[in-house]
Amino acid sequence: MTRIGFFGGTFDPIHFGHLRPALELRDVLGLDEVLFVPCRVPPHRVHPRASPEVRAGMVERAIAGVPGFTLDRRELDRDGPSFTVDSLADLHDERPGAQLLLLLGMDAFLGLGGWHRPERVFELAHLVVTHRPGWKRDEQGGREALIHGRICRRPEELAAEPVGKVLFVEVTQLEISATAVRVSAAANGDVRYLVPEVVREFIEETGCYQND
Ligand code: ATP
Repeated sequence: MTRIGFFGGTFDPIHFGHLRPALELRDVLGLDEVLFVPCRVPPHRVHPRASPEVRAGMVERAIAGVPGFTLDRRELDRDGPSFTVDSLADLHDERPGAQLLLLLGMDAFLGLGGWHRPERVFELAHLVVTHRPGWKRDEQGGREALIHGRICRRPEELAAEPVGKVLFVEVTQLEISATAVRVSAAANGDVRYLVPEVVREFIEETGCYQND
């Protein structure tokens, strides 16, 4: 069975805090593909600073040549808010028989209760949540009701069910945020070692954070 990781985000810009966890998940979960899905209009937050094309360009450069990593443009080509559930439903129709795993950092997971149709997400995919510095799972939150009875402890358990399970995974902790990269780039700071070199060069070339 083909296993596809779906990793959505604004990627404004993509940084090592996205890339290293994605790589570790690819290997721990035995994913055939990891789709990086930049959103066009994030439903729950302010608009990205860089244009969709520039954000996609950064993702494309960052993942070039990495086995299994692919840029997926579906949300960029769709008008309106980029709801993850719509993208998962598309993918489910396009790739019948493939298992979908939605990859999320802890901060994104903590917002799950406010998502568009969260129950439907569990009918389309498993959820894989990585720890992120600065964010702790709070077991009292409203999202706990949503994941009740779904938690599994080991990656192999995900293979036993087609959809609907939740796995928390420890990954290398990198305290990097796109916000900090943008702030630094806007102040003409040096963003080396926070983002891949090709991304740093593209930020300079496009001046995409210059007017922040
Ligand atoms: P911003 O600072 O603009 O809010 P961000 O750095 O959080 O951006 P996003 O594109 O919003 O990046 O995140 C996409 C996904 O990557 C989310 O699921 C998020 O939890 C995860 N993620 C982002 N940064 C990290 C990190 N440093 N470690 C682990 N997961 C991360």
